[in-house]
Amino acid sequence: MNGTTPTNATDRLVDRFGRKVNYLRMSVTDRCDLRCVYCMSEEIKFIPREQLLTLEEIISIGQTAISLGVNKIRITGGEPLNRRDIMMVFEELGKTEGLDDLTLTTNGTQLPRYAEQLRKAGVKRINVSLDTLKPERFTALTRNGKLERVFAGLDAARDAGIEKIKLNTVILENRNHDEILELTEFAIKHGYDISFIEEMPLGVVNSHDRAETYYSTDRIMQDLSSEHELLPTTESTGGPSRYYRIPGIDSRIGFISPHSHNFCDTCNRVRLTAEGNLLLCLGQEHSMDLRHVIRSSPGDSEALRKALIDSMHLKPEGHEFDLEAKPIIFRHMNHTGG
Ligand code: SAM
Ligand code: SF4
Repeated sequence: MNGTTPTNATDRLVDRFGRKVNYLRMSVTDRCDLRCVYCMSEEIKFIPREQLLTLEEIISIGQTAISLGVNKIRITGGEPLNRRDIMMVFEELGKTEGLDDLTLTTNGTQLPRYAEQLRKAGVKRINVSLDTLKPERFTALTRNGKLERVFAGLDAARDAGIEKIKLNTVILENRNHDEILELTEFAIKHGYDISFIEEMPLGVVNSHDRAETYYSTDRIMQDLSSEHELLPTTESTGGPSRYYRIPGIDSRIGFISPHSHNFCDTCNRVRLTAEGNLLLCLGQEHSMDLRHVIRSSPGDSEALRKALIDSMHLKPEGHEFDLEAKPIIFRHMNHTGG
């Protein structure tokens, strides 16, 4: 099926608070070749493969969402490039009319293999996660990763002609907060944007106490201001980052601050888990089981459209993250997709 452009305003996805949803993040797997300490617990159990949406189901949900006015889709995970035959999803969504922006969040390790194909499928910008420039620290933070593979992935993306590369950097006190300036210099040197992310209390992690390692956006900005002048901008890439510019520098510096600067009032996003649950908010459990819809009415795109429209009534006003409390969200980030 090719997506059809929305025909009238009532077909669009608008929630009870008048927020228009035009951005879908789709997690295509919960599996990953890394084990980042803030994302997963060490002995994580992955979802049995038969419970995952098939690639065809993922494409069908994406195309139905596009027909309802979604014009931006981010493919995420787990590590999306670890899912077998994943290029099919990029290729099919990439040629669907109505989609303006097809993007990917990746840890970068598989980019040497896939960067060319991604570019050919229409991916013009990607987010690559990078929290440190020190090889040993990278291995510690990811529990097994090799930093040089991420560097090779970044080079491959640039060589393939992916125009915009943004680094996603989670900052934890006493783990990597001392690298804020170096990571920024690295981004500037290579012409990447960089977004600093406050850790979110998603799922139980056993490697650190999140209240202790919390490093706020304000502190990151303070560290940066020792070397750089940060000028606020109104630029947006349609996500939760608030962007700043350094005079004379192309790279943008973004901040994703779920704790210190709640971004719920302008939320335009919903997330699909790898099992087919449409999550209406990253920090709440409100969801719609689209796998059930798609499997109980195979081929019935009207049922899927209706479910997506109905799900808008479930979208809560905002999240209630609290670092001091026990996690109220038991999903880890690799289930949800960042
Ligand atoms: N594997 C890919 C990657 O690492 O980019 C995509 C999935 S990952 C879950 C998406 C983003 O979520 C990454 O940038 C990661 O750093 C971020 N992330 C994971 N757990 C987080 C947490 N507890 N709080 C904030 N960000 C988190
Ligand atoms: Fe894997 Fe990404 Fe989670 Fe790290 S943040 S464990 S790379 S899914």
